[in-house]
Amino acid sequence: MIKIALVGNPNSGKTTLFNALTGSNQYVGNWPGVTVEKKEGVLKADKTAAIIDLPGIYSLSPYTLEEVVSRNYLLDEPPNAILNIIDGTNLERNLFLTTQLIELGIPVVVAINMLDISDKRGDKIDLDKLAAALKCKVVAISALKQIGVEDAANLAIKAVESPKKLPSTIFSGRTEHTLAHIEEALLHDLPQEQQRFLAVKLFERDTKIIEKLQLTPEQIAHIEADIKICEAEFDDDSESIITAERYGFIETVVKSSMTIKNTGLTISDKIDRIVTHRWLALPIFVAVMFIVYATSVTGVGLLATEWMEGGVFGDGWELFGLWVPGIPVIFEDILTAVNTAEWLQSLIIDGIIAGVGAVLAFVPQLMILFIFLAFLESCGYMARIAFILDRIFRKFGLSGKSFIPILIGTGCGVPGIMASRTIESDKDRKMTVITTTFIPCSAKLPIIALISGALFGGIWWIAPSAYFLGITAIICSGVILKKTKIFAGTVTPFIMELPEYHLPTVENILRSMWERAWSFIKKAGTIILLASVIIWLASNFGWQDGIFGRVYAEYSLLSYVGRAVAWLFAPLGWGNWQAAVSTITGLIAKENLVGTFGILFGFAEVAEDGTEIWALLATHFTALSAYSFLVFNLLCAPCLAAVGAIRREMNNPRWLFFAVGYQTAFAYLVAFCVYQIGSLFGGYFNIFTVLALVFVAAFLFMLFKRQNVQVA
Ligand code: GDP
Ligand code: MG
Repeated sequence: MIKIALVGNPNSGKTTLFNALTGSNQYVGNWPGVTVEKKEGVLKADKTAAIIDLPGIYSLSPYTLEEVVSRNYLLDEPPNAILNIIDGTNLERNLFLTTQLIELGIPVVVAINMLDISDKRGDKIDLDKLAAALKCKVVAISALKQIGVEDAANLAIKAVESPKKLPSTIFSGRTEHTLAHIEEALLHDLPQEQQRFLAVKLFERDTKIIEKLQLTPEQIAHIEADIKICEAEFDDDSESIITAERYGFIETVVKSSMTIKNTGLTISDKIDRIVTHRWLALPIFVAVMFIVYATSVTGVGLLATEWMEGGVFGDGWELFGLWVPGIPVIFEDILTAVNTAEWLQSLIIDGIIAGVGAVLAFVPQLMILFIFLAFLESCGYMARIAFILDRIFRKFGLSGKSFIPILIGTGCGVPGIMASRTIESDKDRKMTVITTTFIPCSAKLPIIALISGALFGGIWWIAPSAYFLGITAIICSGVILKKTKIFAGTVTPFIMELPEYHLPTVENILRSMWERAWSFIKKAGTIILLASVIIWLASNFGWQDGIFGRVYAEYSLLSYVGRAVAWLFAPLGWGNWQAAVSTITGLIAKENLVGTFGILFGFAEVAEDGTEIWALLATHFTALSAYSFLVFNLLCAPCLAAVGAIRREMNNPRWLFFAVGYQTAFAYLVAFCVYQIGSLFGGYFNIFTVLALVFVAAFLFMLFKRQNVQVA
């Protein structure tokens, strides 16, 4: 099977092209770091060729983990050809990687993407000139509009068979001379086409390559002399010489092969003037997120959920004048008709349907949120958010790159944590892994929606406040952690290209929405279903008067588990065993929390007395304790899957322990302060109030303590 690797900068359209070529539905994101692991697919048009989607990279230098991953892949299991995809609206920046790819000795085909945009702008690129300069085939495509994508793939397949060519010599005479020396001294045993890349890397003193080639100290000393001479002549270090000459080459190539028609501001630039404006940017961002969360959780979303709760998973609902009975009603009728044993009936209705139903009821709400997020993502606004927040983050001495994992984390914490790999600094990366899951992921949305709907009567600000609580927790944690010895350090600047704005296609948005919604539904049908059965069993069986059997929930095994830990949460205002148990089951998957409530508070009980759903739940909380419950569950240790991701990224049990411990302790303290200080306003004052005030004071002290961080 022929292997063709898709390589390009983040956001150049690799995933879009991958999907177009393989017909698969890979997640298409609009910020760097989405494609963290390589994905493989078979070419639709030619089943003998495999396409590999690699993480987006800016260079083959080993600065970020992604660059290392991609580079190792290209060196250790070289594909038969590289399809280098380039954002045609940003040629200079993208060609930097190209100049390195053509040195690898692997056939390269350059596909200049975003043809539709450059066409609209009237820019012209002379493909032949570019091809001659790079010594490889060049095509113009639009991955989105599916123009020329097959040609690009065919050229790549053809390139595999074409005779091996030596890369063009793009450096100055002086540098080429040194490179030739290095090749001659150390690399002449290797195939000729592989020598150039290694020579350049040795010239740059790339330690990973030196290790790989297992050079002896004498060999290193030998080329070191050559490199020193060259550096003296340029009065610059070898890496800068190479970078400068690459850009020099690119400049001449672009000048001779590209004519840019309009010199005025593009529409994107005009929008950006407002959207990324120094003062307006933040209020606009806050307003956008407010609208997104308020609409999906309270507005339209709430109506949808009420219909799901009261209708589909309740008594029933009306469809064109016809009465459609709710799922529990249907099951009750069937199960009664076939004389099912009472316990089995209860397991199905009060266990499975109540647990899974309570979770599934939030699907419409989630779909609305996902549509919003997919739109923001693919129109290009998400990239602006990262850009805007980078400015703010840097003021606090934090890396703006942390925000990309966080944005991804709004969907699911697992890829969010994985996306932290784009961060160069190890300390910043660890800090991001620890704080990413503070942002509410889609599994936490049902918790937010439940609390805001059932306990706050759908007040509009609860849901957005949960989102901003997450961001504040991240920033404050970052600021405080940065002041500790472990995390102190300089901030690496984060340069990010802003893609052009464009109207996304309805199909793309729906696809992205459905992908996320479907994985949520799948989870409800598997983990949540299994957990519901267990929770039903545990909440229906136990000892009463020394005899084990069916008991009221108050005597159940589950209640004992809950009471064993509930005292821990009493200072947070919700010391009842149901809340404690739900918090624990939420650690398996956050949706479980809602499912457990569903079972314990009779979500699927066919209410004939007209009591409101969740009415029983409301009797267990006050507004304040409900908010403290929300705060704790949003910030505490994430679900098992996310903890697993943290474990993988940290690769060290102590760090894993620190991360989960920090999250839980932080959640506890914030919820504690919220509840205790909130109670103060209600006139309650005791030793806990004093403690809470001390915590707040200590927190503020840490926050505003002078820091020794150099802001880059
Ligand atoms: P990746 O980071 O390289 O995988 O890039 P993606 O495939 O995620 O694409 C980044 C963004 O560019 C997405 O919003 C795509 O819809 C958009 N995009 C990709 N190809 C084209 C194209 O040919 N024309 C236009 N206008 N947009 C495109
Ligand atoms: Mg991608």
